[in-house]
Amino acid sequence: MGEPAGARPKVGLIGWRGMVGAVLIERMRAEGDFALIEPEFFSTTQAGRPAPDVGSGHGTLGNGYDLEALARCDILVSCQGGDYTGKMHPQLRAAGWDGHWIDAASALRMNDAAVIVLDPVNRHVIDAGLAAGCRDWIGGNCTVSLMLMAFGGLFRAGLVEWMTTMTYQAASGAGAQQMRELLAQMGVLHASARGLLDDPASAILDIDRRARAAFDDAMPTAAIGQPLAGSLLPWVDRDLGNGYSREEWKAGAEGNKILGLSGDPVPIDGLCVRVGAMRCHSQAVTIKLRRPATLTALEQVMAGLHPWLRIIPNEVEATLACLTPAAVTGTLDIAVGRIRHLAMGEDYLTAFTVGDQLLWGAAEPLRRMLRILIGR
Ligand code: NAP
Repeated sequence: MGEPAGARPKVGLIGWRGMVGAVLIERMRAEGDFALIEPEFFSTTQAGRPAPDVGSGHGTLGNGYDLEALARCDILVSCQGGDYTGKMHPQLRAAGWDGHWIDAASALRMNDAAVIVLDPVNRHVIDAGLAAGCRDWIGGNCTVSLMLMAFGGLFRAGLVEWMTTMTYQAASGAGAQQMRELLAQMGVLHASARGLLDDPASAILDIDRRARAAFDDAMPTAAIGQPLAGSLLPWVDRDLGNGYSREEWKAGAEGNKILGLSGDPVPIDGLCVRVGAMRCHSQAVTIKLRRPATLTALEQVMAGLHPWLRIIPNEVEATLACLTPAAVTGTLDIAVGRIRHLAMGEDYLTAFTVGDQLLWGAAEPLRRMLRILIGR
């Protein structure tokens, strides 16, 4: 493989049609990334069709299972999913391909040979990986990445003794079909009571009865499995059989790996809950500080981590205007607010954070890792 620095590196993109991949392409266009690389688009189902025009005309889609074509790339970026990674990555490595593999899927995340990338938080871990010859760069779980984008400064300053995080996760984390179904469920709920809603004199308990009946009878649930609109689901991802969901296990396991603390991990734990938001994950945290600190000092430490962090004053107007999924969606902002000490003492901190799980939670760390690899 030719080193990617120097001439424009050949970058293969797989999974660009999916939800994470589409956001990645959108961000790469916005940041002018395609001018720095020689892109080649692959698909596992559409090979031979026109590839998207990203500035140099329409090429043709390559076959995502064509090992030789993939191996001609200096860098491969996959947003295709874990099954694809599990099938193709070992074959490429066994065939001697030593290019860089950037991946949104979780399949390789906890491998010793892989670094979980979130450069505003762990550039030091990425640099150590580069120096050690690492070739596998994996995006973190969306909830964990967003949590560390919000509170990574406190970890970096050595202030966190332990942390709980209670999540309010958006439908997009489950997939595109779940986002569609959430809206369809909202429509069914509204339709069930529309006639009564139009009448200002109708009784609220009659409206509620109609909505309750819709939960039982009319809601489409093929993708989500349960009504989510007007409800919530306090279990995200697989049951690990020990009281934990897999999503909850990731907070401590991935969080400490991202921070480079796996040898001496900080306890990070909590419950993960799906709510009816579209694409922003929210989290309420409790942090046990290693030493008491003023709120001003803590806010400065948090805000100093990266330029996307927005501290929202702990006041009603600012909170309701700026610290919601509706306010943050589609932006790179990491909003952090409701910051105050708890009644337990000045070494206990609570806060609430909101971030777009398709941007910093998925596509943006991958895009930035590509930039790091091509040295721009
Ligand atoms: P997705 O939307 O299901 O897309 C995956 C692939 O499905 C596409 O690349 C495309 O591949 C194929 N596909 C089939 N029909 C399609 C259609 N009508 N429209 C678009 N694509 C279609 O997957 P995703 O949610 O982006 O997730 C990709 C990976 O990222 C997964 O491993 C996931 O766990 C991980 N991840 C997801 C999130 C998240 O929030 N969703 C966050 C972080 C990481 P072909 O072109 O080959 O047909």
